[in-house]
Amino acid sequence: MEVKVPDIGDFKDVPVVTILVSVGDTVAEEDPLLELESDKATMEVPSPAAGKVAEIKVSEGDKVSQGDVIIVLEGAEDAPAEAPKEAPKTEAPKAVEAAGTATGKGDVHGEVVVLGSGPGGYTAAFRAADLGKNVVLIEANNSLGGVCLNVGCIPSKALLHVAKVITEAEEMSAHGVTFAKPEIDLDELRAFKDSVVGKLTGGLDGLAKGRKVKVVKGYGKFTGPNMIAVEGADGTTNVSFDQCIIAAGSEPVALPFIPHDDPRVIDSTGALELKDIPGRMLVLGGGIIGLEMACVYDALGSKVTVVELMDQIIPGADKDIVKPLMQRIKGRYENIFLKTKVTAVEALDEGLKVTFEDDTGKSFSDTFDKVLVAVGRKPNGKLIDAANAGVAVDDRGFIAVDNQQRTGVSHIFAIGDVVGQPMLAHKAVHEGKVAAEVASGEKRAFDAMVIPSVAYTDPEVAWVGMTETQAKAQGVKVEKGVFPWAASGKSLSNGRSEGITKLLFNPDDQRVVGAAIVGTNAGDLIAEVALAIEMGADAVDLGHTIHPHPTLSETVNFAAEMFEGTITDLIPPKKR
Ligand code: FAD
Repeated sequence: MEVKVPDIGDFKDVPVVTILVSVGDTVAEEDPLLELESDKATMEVPSPAAGKVAEIKVSEGDKVSQGDVIIVLEGAEDAPAEAPKEAPKTEAPKAVEAAGTATGKGDVHGEVVVLGSGPGGYTAAFRAADLGKNVVLIEANNSLGGVCLNVGCIPSKALLHVAKVITEAEEMSAHGVTFAKPEIDLDELRAFKDSVVGKLTGGLDGLAKGRKVKVVKGYGKFTGPNMIAVEGADGTTNVSFDQCIIAAGSEPVALPFIPHDDPRVIDSTGALELKDIPGRMLVLGGGIIGLEMACVYDALGSKVTVVELMDQIIPGADKDIVKPLMQRIKGRYENIFLKTKVTAVEALDEGLKVTFEDDTGKSFSDTFDKVLVAVGRKPNGKLIDAANAGVAVDDRGFIAVDNQQRTGVSHIFAIGDVVGQPMLAHKAVHEGKVAAEVASGEKRAFDAMVIPSVAYTDPEVAWVGMTETQAKAQGVKVEKGVFPWAASGKSLSNGRSEGITKLLFNPDDQRVVGAAIVGTNAGDLIAEVALAIEMGADAVDLGHTIHPHPTLSETVNFAAEMFEGTITDLIPPKKR
């Protein structure tokens, strides 16, 4: 077997500093053969197989690069040629017969036309332009950025920051520092939130211009397999395309028995408008969006009630991870009803009379100043006449795609919320890049192993990869390392002790397969584990990586050590 220099990153002509074996030595798989030294690090080259060193092809001081033969091993078979790094293609989704008749060149033509400018759409448009395509971006809204920038991720986080400052200031009184009750100027607060949104959406205009991406404003619908008619303020613009990327996103689900035309009934967009601070507010739905808004209005002074149909809030996350959030909000909110549904909302002069029914069938009612409906989002697939282009849309409005983001019509791609769960901006962005790169002729596919989820509540709840609940349901064996933040110096210094960092490992190879974290900044911390999973890191990799002290990031390190049994800041559950 010829042993070659493996992938050593972006390095070439790296000197061989030490040869660690001699001709005739017997080596086991993974035994170090020689050391290379780049200007960044010293790297050992391990033996890819067991065998006897027959020949050493390099001397100390020689310079080598990836693929150079360094040693010949006897008694080991040549490894098969490395397969090209292209993800296997998945089955093409179904198409329908195209009903649209529009053909030829439109008023505007794009090699790549992107429908919708949310995080998925603008990413796809900009990436395709950077790869040399002539790109047109269609957007119905006045400003680019979609739900995320205008009425989602960004404005909610601006308000959550304000909520955090208010509650932290309030809680300092337990530690000897008392601030006056905050005076809230809603106009100023709204202006702050709008300015954050404005900076980002305005930035997108500049980025589009800089790339010569043509933006067509108006609502677009397919009129043929290569044509979209855009209804804008100046009438209809027909936009023809060679390839199209659908990034039409999603909108809040409305419930039929709720008077949505009453201004006291709001969805997340209404909640972010911050028209007033209601005295008593019902948040209908204990998912991420509802709980984030509950957190904002609670801090601003509303008495909040949350109602959730399932037996826990944030149903996707493990129960133990949600518990610290549940305990905290139980102490702050007026009521949290689990396993309870809303059966009626009646608009009265004195408020919105809401009827609830619990899991025993018992009915009760209460009256609120505002009801925020946050029961989920539905994809916009049914609104764009996709059948005119032959693109199939399912009953719920989702568009099926393969792992290259292609719909059943090979020159039309779809990305983001409109293709499925999880409806998250970072998933849309990743898919946008894949679609743009495939449309530009690159060999790309969606092959991310995991997509992290975060609730930016107080405390934050974040998870990535496999959850314990999923492992149990699928019969997958996992072992865990759990570190309670009550033993974290940084968390205690922050005046908080309720966090948990939980890592799940494959017991066969100790690789990390999932993580869930609850605590302040859990959303930032989860990224390390997402990388660890993608890189195939194991408990030793996480436990032996030096984390800065004192930080919350140490809790990831400590959870790995809890699994390993090497922790010294606590008594390890098992010693190794
Ligand atoms: P969208 O952002 O939905 O954008 C679609 C765009 O297409 C819109 O601008 C729409 O006007 C336009 N459009 C649609 N149809 C047409 C048409 N026919 N013609 C022209 N234009 C059209 N995700 C996170 O990852 N992190 C968070 O913290 C987070 N917080 C959220 C908070 C709230 C309150 C909400 C509501 C959502 C949040 N999300 C968050 C979800 C996130 O906003 C979405 O997953 C993300 O915006 C989806 O991106 P997208 O590109 O698929 O589409």
